[in-house]
Amino acid sequence: MLPRAFTEEQVMFRDAYRKFLSTEIVPHMEAWREAGIVDREAFRKAGERGFLMVWPDEKYGGMGDPDFRFEQVIIEETAYARVGDWYSTLHSRLVGPYFTRFGNEEQCQRFMPKCASGELILAIAMTEPDAGSDLAGMRSTAVEHDDHWVLNGSKTYISNGINADVVIVAAKTDPENNPHAMTLFIVERGMEGFERGRNLEKMGMKAQDTAELFFNDVLVPKANVLGEPHKGFIYLMEGLAEERLIGACGYLAAAQLSWDLTCEYVKERKAFGKPLAAFQNTQFKLAELRTDLDIAQNYVDQCVAAFNDGALTAVDAAKAKLVTSELQVKVADIGVQLHGGAGYMDEYPISRQFTDAKIATIYAGSSEVMKIIVSRDCLGDKYQPFNTRNF
Ligand SMILES: Cc1cc2nc3c(=O)[nH]c(=O)nc-3n(C[C@H](O)[C@H](O)[C@H](O)COP(=O)(O)OP(=O)(O)OC[C@H]3O[C@@H](n4cnc5c(N)ncnc54)[C@H](O)[C@@H]3O)c2cc1C
Repeated sequence: MLPRAFTEEQVMFRDAYRKFLSTEIVPHMEAWREAGIVDREAFRKAGERGFLMVWPDEKYGGMGDPDFRFEQVIIEETAYARVGDWYSTLHSRLVGPYFTRFGNEEQCQRFMPKCASGELILAIAMTEPDAGSDLAGMRSTAVEHDDHWVLNGSKTYISNGINADVVIVAAKTDPENNPHAMTLFIVERGMEGFERGRNLEKMGMKAQDTAELFFNDVLVPKANVLGEPHKGFIYLMEGLAEERLIGACGYLAAAQLSWDLTCEYVKERKAFGKPLAAFQNTQFKLAELRTDLDIAQNYVDQCVAAFNDGALTAVDAAKAKLVTSELQVKVADIGVQLHGGAGYMDEYPISRQFTDAKIATIYAGSSEVMKIIVSRDCLGDKYQPFNTRNF
């Protein structure tokens, strides 16, 4: 692989985070998978050590260094430690920046320090039973009154849905006239009418609580509107480029791990008197994947550098998400195949690598949606069958 550019401080940070994972997260993962949820205490511990919300100013509890490579280190080490369902990045880097990007100073001061310490856990709720890829099809609504809004609707598949204390909820605020007029609301635990539904059972990512949320006449004070009313759809689209870069870093790291696990296995396992690694089929498969992985890593690292320079486009982020998520699934699939029956057994780590991988091509915008974004960029809007500016 070509050399990767991390500073000395980031290398030390990587080492420290790896140690944190091995002592505070890895030993508990099986219990959390059984329970279908990570213990809230894990967020407190990560917060205490400075591993949550590393990017914001010190006054908000961060390190004051927005370099995305610190987050990349966290994401990669989480994947290498096989604890992708300790999904702290969702809280820290996927939802957290909504406050600094769109919120006001009062909101930043009210929420960010407690988010950095792990006292408050964050989630974001866009998806509904009838609206996932087609966000503009959402049915949740909010109606404005004197000093508050009244929010109604339901959301599903919400990561951190059970643990979250603060949920950024998207709802339509002018549904009659403009399907894209949405507002983002900061909904807090304990607000009357805000209820949790089921913690959904999943194929993989078992420790990550993914839940249904219900909002029945929730009175949201105007002080809890994020940014300007009706602009929520634009804000969500802005957030998605960063979300897809976060995803790309994680999918690729998980794919790297699947490749390593498979490489180890084929050197040990013998068939017809030879290690599996001696068959040309094995060699070619691993060589092809190694090449794909190294090329993808180089692209992702360049996207990270572009993001740091404020130059990462939504289209480039979509390409990174598309290629890495598909690769994560492909490497895990071939990995299971090269493990034979062992690959299907829970006791072999490649098995969970496979079941955890599949979500990568679906959430944060599916592969099909990524292809629409890229094709629109290549061919222009003219050939799109409908208004794909919805993505
Ligand atoms: C584990 C998990 C965690 C999640 N976390 C969150 C979260 O925290 N917050 C949140 O808001 N959401 C979350 N989601 C929801 C996720 O983002 C959606 O599931 C995803 O966007 C897909 O939407 P959908 O499930 O409605 O599928 P649909 O939109 O119904 O898509 C079904 C299939 O049709 C394809 N398709 C749709 N439109 C087109 C088109 N125009 N052209 C071609 N193909 C198309 C899709 O690619 C897909 O293959 C999560 C989902 C999961 C499973």
